[in-house]
Amino acid sequence: MNQLLKPNTFKSGPDSAGRFGGFGGRYVAETLMPLILEVEAAYAKAKADPSFDAEWRRLLKDYVGRPSPLWYAERVTEHCRAQAEPGKGAKVYFKRDELNHTGAHKINAVLGQILLAKRMGKKRIIAETGAGQHGVATATACALFNLPCTVFMGATDVERQQPNVFRMKLLGAEVVAVTSGAATLKDAMNEALRHWVANVEDTYYCIGTVAGPHPYPMMVRDFQSVIGEETRVQMQEAEGRLPDLLVAAIGGGSNAMGLFYPFLDDPSVQMHGVEAGGHGIETVTGHAASLTGGRPGVLHGNRTYLLQDEFGQILEGHSISAGLDYPGVGPEHSWLHELGRVQYVNATDKEALDAFQLCSRLEGIIPALEPAHALAHVLKVAPTLPAETLIVMNMCGRGDKDIFTVAGHLGVKL
Ligand SMILES: *Cc1c(COP(=O)(O)O)cnc(C)c1O
Repeated sequence: MNQLLKPNTFKSGPDSAGRFGGFGGRYVAETLMPLILEVEAAYAKAKADPSFDAEWRRLLKDYVGRPSPLWYAERVTEHCRAQAEPGKGAKVYFKRDELNHTGAHKINAVLGQILLAKRMGKKRIIAETGAGQHGVATATACALFNLPCTVFMGATDVERQQPNVFRMKLLGAEVVAVTSGAATLKDAMNEALRHWVANVEDTYYCIGTVAGPHPYPMMVRDFQSVIGEETRVQMQEAEGRLPDLLVAAIGGGSNAMGLFYPFLDDPSVQMHGVEAGGHGIETVTGHAASLTGGRPGVLHGNRTYLLQDEFGQILEGHSISAGLDYPGVGPEHSWLHELGRVQYVNATDKEALDAFQLCSRLEGIIPALEPAHALAHVLKVAPTLPAETLIVMNMCGRGDKDIFTVAGHLGVKL
């Protein structure tokens, strides 16, 4: 740990300007500034109002199905122990956020944001989406609250994520195909920000991860922290103590931030964030590992680690998992990376594909390809750790959406 940088608490970010150390902030056009300040003020007010929290928690319980269970993955644990020396092989738990309504963690932060939008008197919701999971979660909440919803999606992603495009339409949302740039998530987010500036009065922009200008990284983290808060209580019940190691996949970093945040000031708890290693991080554009294979720059209103070329042009990330190929990462992760509080590692497409199949067969849980990356890392480290070590891995999404991709890679035609 870098002693010069070490703060008294790792929960101190962001400061009043939205900065986590040298990261985050709000690098936005002047025209966007009033909107962002309005969101910040409204969120501060909502956060201080117990009735806001109560309404959100009621939705989490009765609509989403929280708390999600903490599952002792006994067969995965045995699998790891079978390859370990005697006395080694950590005990592996899954935090089962794949059981949430709409199949991933995204809905936690979407419901918080939609409740906020309603308080602000906003009449319509816009969102960006890559693989479509955030678009589906937002369209779902908008159906529930009878709010018109427009989802910006890169034209390339619209092509390759047809089932989610159809889901959003069934839920009543309008899907706008964005053709600029590489026509993927980065471009969809640019377009959503542009559209927001042009529709200031009545529109709320619901962001899908811990990225964007302040207050979004903080706000989305706060909502997703329900994952770590539940884990803390459930681990006390199961084992009578805190876990030793937390593992989560990193796209923009919201499910990881949600699991990690409540444990940041517990020095005994280690944390590993798993980025998409794609074809290997030694390749130039064959991965989406912003922290281990990128460098700091500004994108989507904040300063953070990015995949970029020598001229600062943003590079397209690659991952077998469409939810992990964002070329940036939430600014709080960049800070935790520099402080050394969280270790960032990666898993390749092939490792994730293997872990996907292993999890299906050993636990009867078909994971999304994103948490399959986290599991691939768990399979590497668990056999090297003492048997009393407790690992919690965030199973942040289910794999229904990925069966076509996986079938394709396995040479199976559906
Ligand atoms: C969207 C998504 C991710 C990536 O987003 P984070 O903000 O990094 O959590 C990971 N897993 C699943 C299942 C997703 O839907």
